[in-house]
Amino acid sequence: MQNSDNAYIPIADGFAPERAGRARLFAESLAAAGPGDVRRALDKDVLNEKDFAVLLSPAAGGELEALARRARDETMRRFGRARQLFAPLYLGNYCTNRCVYCGFHAGSGIKKRSALTPEEIDAEAEALYATGLRRVLILTGDAPKRTGADYIAAAAAVLARRFSSVGIEVPSQSVEDYARITRAGADSMTMFQETYDPELYARLHPAGPKRDFAYRLDAPQRAAAAGMRGVNLGALLGLGDWRGDIFMTGMHALFLQRRFPGLEIGFSLPRIRPAETAGAFRPSPVSDRDFVQALTALRCFMPHACITLSTRESAFMRDKLLPLGVTRLSAGVSTGVGGYARPEPKNNVQFAIDDKRSVSEMAADLEKLGYRPVFSDWLLPGGGDLPLAGALRNAVGATGTGG
Ligand code: SF4
Repeated sequence: MQNSDNAYIPIADGFAPERAGRARLFAESLAAAGPGDVRRALDKDVLNEKDFAVLLSPAAGGELEALARRARDETMRRFGRARQLFAPLYLGNYCTNRCVYCGFHAGSGIKKRSALTPEEIDAEAEALYATGLRRVLILTGDAPKRTGADYIAAAAAVLARRFSSVGIEVPSQSVEDYARITRAGADSMTMFQETYDPELYARLHPAGPKRDFAYRLDAPQRAAAAGMRGVNLGALLGLGDWRGDIFMTGMHALFLQRRFPGLEIGFSLPRIRPAETAGAFRPSPVSDRDFVQALTALRCFMPHACITLSTRESAFMRDKLLPLGVTRLSAGVSTGVGGYARPEPKNNVQFAIDDKRSVSEMAADLEKLGYRPVFSDWLLPGGGDLPLAGALRNAVGATGTGG
């Protein structure tokens, strides 16, 4: 659904005024939650905000199997065995921000930075298209003069010629710029708030445009008002308190869903990798068990939302979490600028990936596990059989449909 007719809702009327009240509700529900509350929440057909907080509590950590069962059933009911595949495409890594946890920040001393030209973007698109993928997510650093809205819109236009879905994971834009990028061919946006704790956010982002917590917080709302079909929310787990950040991610999604009922809501669950941190910053590790609790609680609270798990996680974890709520996976990933068309990317990669499976390996492994890899937003008539992936790939090649 397009929301282009909706007027932009100003920041004063955005999610920020709700945030403090939600934080109080979360703290109170968490402190009071016991095993009986967890079981009562899981017995409900539809979970409310308080139930969600209960499922994120330490008490629910002791009921992980019950959470996993509910998450598995919800995932099967809404998504069956279809799992979408996509790849991120890094367009440039110039950045004017100073996020203290990022080795690529403006003061890091990294000299070798670049941004792809339109011809290079096309070469990347061709290489990615050849893998069979039809969904792509474009990423840039925060450098308005080099990779600003004009650049992003031009890149989206190049990619929309081949791909059925072009997402953006770029710095916060104005509603007008989101509208321009949408008209150029992008259909969804991903925005990681990093952390929903404003004090921690201020400490982690000492300089640069990203320092503006409220402007970033309302970026998904501006994108939805500008006509984006989908928004994907998330926090970088490990920066602060994972329970609070997951809860607030869910509240943010609920807020957007109420304002834009036709909006496709999704989540990503990135866990910070120690290798990507910089300087004196020390992450707050999120254990595998905590990670599973975060995923399953989110799935129980928002059963219809897509949940993305990137190649930051190991192949083992990604495979194991498939039944519990993960519905979209990246595959065949290069995090270097220009890393698909040339063996040696133009720059250092921003962070190392763990799951290094190619697209075809990922698709084959999904099939072995009983899932159906989906490369595009559309399905073949009569789809539903597990061997469909091969037919789907052939059909994609035969039609040449890109969007
Ligand atoms: S996290 Fe992103 S915005 Fe922040 S310094 Fe690194 S590249 Fe720039």
